Amino acid sequence: MPSFAEELRILCEKGLYRSMRRVEGSQRSRVSIGGQEALLFCSNNYLGLADHPKLKEAAISAVERYGTGSGAARLVSGTMALHEELEARLAAFKGTEAALVFNSGYAANTGIIPALVGRGDIIFSDRLNHASIVDGAILSRSRLLRYPHNDISALRRLLVENWTTGRRLIVTDGVFSMDGDVAKLEELVAVKHEFDALLMVDDAHGTGVLGAGGRGSVELSGNLGGEIDIQMGTLGKALGSFGAYVASSREIIDYLTNKARSFIFSTSLPPAALAASLAALDLVDSTEGETLRLRLANNALLFRALLNEKGFCTMGSETQIVPVFVGEAETTMEFTRLLLDEGIFVQGIRPPTVPAGSCRLRCTLMATHTERDIHEAAAAIEKVGRSLRVI
Ligand SMILES: *Cc1c(COP(=O)(O)O)cnc(C)c1O
Repeated sequence: MPSFAEELRILCEKGLYRSMRRVEGSQRSRVSIGGQEALLFCSNNYLGLADHPKLKEAAISAVERYGTGSGAARLVSGTMALHEELEARLAAFKGTEAALVFNSGYAANTGIIPALVGRGDIIFSDRLNHASIVDGAILSRSRLLRYPHNDISALRRLLVENWTTGRRLIVTDGVFSMDGDVAKLEELVAVKHEFDALLMVDDAHGTGVLGAGGRGSVELSGNLGGEIDIQMGTLGKALGSFGAYVASSREIIDYLTNKARSFIFSTSLPPAALAASLAALDLVDSTEGETLRLRLANNALLFRALLNEKGFCTMGSETQIVPVFVGEAETTMEFTRLLLDEGIFVQGIRPPTVPAGSCRLRCTLMATHTERDIHEAAAAIEKVGRSLRVI
């Protein structure tokens, strides 16, 4: 029997070993790591809501009123007022008939996909979709066909060549989590109609951020919400809380309530998380939310421009997720170590998260970064990039 220690040693050798860095305090733009101050450029707390006073206040008063735990799955010990309130709010936010809350984006995708499709059905999935979509597809026992990233003609060819009398599900990230580009939703909607397929969009990184009202990639792409069968997103990233949602027709939400195993067989979200999400949605809808979205977009624009000017490739990023192409795993990890010495905390992304040879720094902007923070980070990336001959 192969030993786990040996497998760990091989991971180390290949530069693929992973470990966690301890960060003190909340997810602010400046954090303390091992006693050293660093600029945080790897958090998905895009709007800075994860320690916003309004979310904290809402969570604290929910704890006082409803306690800390939900007690069981909602089909078992009952649903709480806050679950219902949040779902009504999410359905209104997304402009759908109904919504259902899941415990995380990972739990949502591994619950929704196997509920909707199974043996005899086919899933058409963008090659760069998030791991939770891939895992959901594997769990579903459907055929999984992956099309080249954002290549709609390749998707059409796959649909023509692979017919089934069962269901066809096209699934895509709204914003691609490691590349920061946006799905071609308008074209996907046309293909979905042409082939009578279901279309599911995972808007983990678009929710709260993209579109004039922060409704996500679906709003950015011309208010396509009504054309998309299943809209999923998380509450843990820009919304600064925890959990996830699916927004859809009443029929599909009712179906998922009955069939999605990660919903049925797992204790539901606690009051504090639900209340924080509700407060986050209020904020996203406020003028403060609008200001935060604008600041985030401007920060991303400035950061990308600075990096491109210095000769880095930002890999088609159009959003607050800005990858910096490096190539090999070991150089990438050396890059992140040296950046931390310079006081910049970013993550290097390696296989299996991205294909071999396309390792990168995954930088994420927050509305709470100042222009000075961004110049400082870009200058450090330039310095280390030159020393490692990335530029
Ligand atoms: C982060 C992410 C998820 C998982 O969401 P969690 O709430 O963190 O579990 C799902 N899909 C995509 C595209 C993501 O980036």
